[in-house]
Amino acid sequence: MIHIVEPSAEQSKHRAASIFVRKDHRQDIDDIKERLKDIRSHVRDNYTSLVKELQENLGRFDGIKVTHASDAKEAAAYIQKVAGDISLASINKSNIVINELRPELHASGLKTYIRYYTEFKNFEEGKFQKKVEDYWSLPGMHGRNLVESFGVRKTMHKTASPETRNFVAVLGVNAIAADDGSVFFLQHMSNISKDLDQAKKIVLVASLEKITKTREEALLHTKSMGIFGLESILLDLMPHDIEKYDFDALPVVDGQDREIHVVILDNGRSKLMEAGYKDLFLCIDCRACARQCPVGQHLLLERGMVYSPKNYLLGFLQGWLPSVEYCLHCGRCHVECPVEIDIPMLLWRSQLEHYEHHKRSWKKKMLDDPELLAKLGTLTAPLSTWMTRLPLVKVLMQIFTGVHRNSNLPAFTRKTFRHWLKGGRRD
Ligand code: SF4
Ligand code: SF4
Repeated sequence: MIHIVEPSAEQSKHRAASIFVRKDHRQDIDDIKERLKDIRSHVRDNYTSLVKELQENLGRFDGIKVTHASDAKEAAAYIQKVAGDISLASINKSNIVINELRPELHASGLKTYIRYYTEFKNFEEGKFQKKVEDYWSLPGMHGRNLVESFGVRKTMHKTASPETRNFVAVLGVNAIAADDGSVFFLQHMSNISKDLDQAKKIVLVASLEKITKTREEALLHTKSMGIFGLESILLDLMPHDIEKYDFDALPVVDGQDREIHVVILDNGRSKLMEAGYKDLFLCIDCRACARQCPVGQHLLLERGMVYSPKNYLLGFLQGWLPSVEYCLHCGRCHVECPVEIDIPMLLWRSQLEHYEHHKRSWKKKMLDDPELLAKLGTLTAPLSTWMTRLPLVKVLMQIFTGVHRNSNLPAFTRKTFRHWLKGGRRD
């Protein structure tokens, strides 16, 4: 069964929930974090047996085909085969589908659209504003009745549908339970419900870390994505014209023989477990870390990836991102993470391992040694400060060091902090 979890859009429902749920029965955010850590640790330490159990249980359902793909290419080849003569695909805003699968789907000839962004056209003026207001009101409910505001709003029981259109839906699942094969999606718009109602062929993509032991754990995992990722929803709350496609306008076709496929995707994950990155399996993809990261938005969204510090690292380890050097190691992602993954430390590790086998460029060596740069600047101050403000020098700096020409370096001064402190004591 496929379940869709949604936040309640009505303020009145939030209030009602807070009145009718007894205070001592309400789940505290800290309790949820602890429970979540237990659930995720179990997944991290037992993913092989969970995959096996899931495959066995899904195999019992008539009309569901399960396959295992070792990498994105293999998964895309399978999806292309499933699609047959259909060349149109609706994809959800899943990092697995967008970051890992989409390039391969395109290479295999499928045209993809992220239907989430098309949904913005469906809002009448006023209604859209209301939806945004509802989202903004949710973070203020932390620690009170926020947990109750997320629930299963829709369940898909059967495959046949009178709404069917000729396209394939490729949907990255948010969680899938090994014990009964229940699939969970967190939905903010109506794109996933529509894809499940309308697609001629449905391909559900579950990467290894999305498999939980039980249905109840899968539900909590999915709710937690919403609870801890509330503010990150706002990162994407805008239309993207390039993704616009009117799936609703496609002619209705016979939907009696619809197909559902489940692709269990590894794509380098099992190797990461052996290489010391197993804590990435704790991630619930809430993107709370993305909201706090000072560099992500500026560097990567234009490349179309779903950004989070975890995805940044995963992309580098999987080989589709060339480096992770833009991380400032500020630690904000670690502080924000509900399951306390030390992403900054893992980013360091990945860089150290990388440079064991690759030469550092002179640019990299220079930027890696800010102390030397500061000493040189101090020795030649105030000339160095004056020079770094010159437009021509700024352009050269951008070309040779990668520091943007619109940024200002701090002013250098001959008087160091140590001199200043000694002087202060004398005074
Ligand atoms: S430590 Fe790096 S990845 Fe994490 S928030 Fe800071 S800049 Fe972003
Ligand atoms: S790493 Fe980021 S996306 Fe993953 S659980 Fe932590 S905060 Fe959420």
